[in-house]
Amino acid sequence: MPNSEEFDVVVVGGGPAGSTLAALVAMQERRVLVLEKEFFPRHQIGESLLPSTVHGVCRLTGVADELAKAGFPRKRGGTFRWGASPDPWTFAFSVSPRMTGPTSFAYQVERSKFDKILLDHAGRVGAEVREGCAVSDVIADEERVRGVRYTDADGVEREAHATYVVDASGNMSRLHGKVGGRREYSEFFRSLALYGYFEGGKRLPEPNSGNILSVAFESGWFWYIPLSDTLTSVGAVVRRELADKIQGDQEKALMSLVAECPLIAEHLADAKRVTEGPYGKLRVRKDYSYHQTTFWRPGLVLVGDAACFVDPVFSSGVHLATYSALLAARSINSALAGLVDEEKALGEFEARYRREFGVFYEFLLSFYDMHHDEDSYFWQAKKVTRTNRPELQSFVELIGGVSSGERALTDAEVLAKRFGAESEEFAEAVDELARSEDESMVPLFRSSVVREVMREGGQVQMRALLGEDAERETPLFDGGLVASPDGMFWLPFAPEGD
Ligand code: FAD
Repeated sequence: MPNSEEFDVVVVGGGPAGSTLAALVAMQERRVLVLEKEFFPRHQIGESLLPSTVHGVCRLTGVADELAKAGFPRKRGGTFRWGASPDPWTFAFSVSPRMTGPTSFAYQVERSKFDKILLDHAGRVGAEVREGCAVSDVIADEERVRGVRYTDADGVEREAHATYVVDASGNMSRLHGKVGGRREYSEFFRSLALYGYFEGGKRLPEPNSGNILSVAFESGWFWYIPLSDTLTSVGAVVRRELADKIQGDQEKALMSLVAECPLIAEHLADAKRVTEGPYGKLRVRKDYSYHQTTFWRPGLVLVGDAACFVDPVFSSGVHLATYSALLAARSINSALAGLVDEEKALGEFEARYRREFGVFYEFLLSFYDMHHDEDSYFWQAKKVTRTNRPELQSFVELIGGVSSGERALTDAEVLAKRFGAESEEFAEAVDELARSEDESMVPLFRSSVVREVMREGGQVQMRALLGEDAERETPLFDGGLVASPDGMFWLPFAPEGD
């Protein structure tokens, strides 16, 4: 192999963001190289998916049918002990009560298996995938980034040159700073997660046995994700100040958190923690809520966790990773084909990605605000309207320029009021859902933050299903671009009749 090679695109990292982008660009007959540090299968957290990934982006890459055959548990929706109601409430992704349509579900996935399916698929549709290859730096000049330096599986230092480098190397990215700007961490979402795996935990009654169960308790909240009939991923998200306790005896720390939370304790009553094999370790994750202040520069684009991530409670990570990969792939495909100039194409990517991240961020602020526990330090600190002004100002900067009309914001005071009103509206919608027999999302759609958070994913899903038969898209921003009918490119918007 020559020490220096030439590609159209080099993708750093073969997680969901990297393999999705690689597939969508390779499908346009471009030369794509994926450099992945690990050998798959490898462990990753982020097991609960949303329908837009499964039926939207994965349909566009062509991997959806293979995922359907992999036997992952179907996630019909979410069950929460959260908010005012002392009893758990459930929502289903379907809009029709008691019915799961062909696309109104997602999967709970063992990420080692899911990520390998996506990466192998990228290879099958034309990307060259090299595992055991760690990228150390970009090759750049004043004008643009032109490639990467990496060490291959045999320890040989190599270079790969490309028109575009895509950093999809996740939250441990070494390259994100090369794009310019800085990584801003969120104080508000500065929590810590301690998680492990159990055999033999209880399941929710049918038809919700595949749902994620999320339970708020005094010190934070738990996720409980069924990964098979018997294997469950269990994690506690707690305040950062508990780090010392957790770094000590993790087993003791997790079990004492479980004991604080009766619903999770009841689900784990007959379960045994897995102590061997790939699921045998307890793991901690911290400092995972941040965003880079800019997402691209000429020749370099950040997707997935390399760019931003906020908080795991609504399972948005893999959605944002695959959605941002779709947006960036359209931009790169259009620029390489000479359909749209680079600045316009990547400007569209950044504006849409920033907007979607902002929408989830705002939704999560309301979601935290909605749960009341006057005696809890954790929950008192999660009242957004009481939080410090720098956090709100940072949110204004995050979405600045990408929201429009009545949602345009410039001021942290106005924002605090709006968040207060939104979380009240959200809490009322949840109360209504909790009271009703109907588990569909319909009552939740009374809440504007829920409508917003489901909107773009729903669009992606519908367009992937209908393809050329979908209604013509209109730009998301004034003067912005629209997706081509096959979903692979950006095109200038031409109003009907032009
Ligand atoms: P990753 O999945 O991190 O993939 C990056 C890849 O890049 C890795 O394979 C890595 O080995 C490789 N790499 C790194 N450095 C280099 C290098 N120098 N050279 C080459 N390769 C490199 N999301 C959900 O959707 N649902 C959930 O339930 C959920 N729960 C979560 C719980 C917690 C506690 C946390 C912290 C996150 C959770 N997430 C969840 C988020 C989810 O984990 C991420 O958003 C998702 O994995 C991002 O995908 P990615 O492809 O951007 O990055």
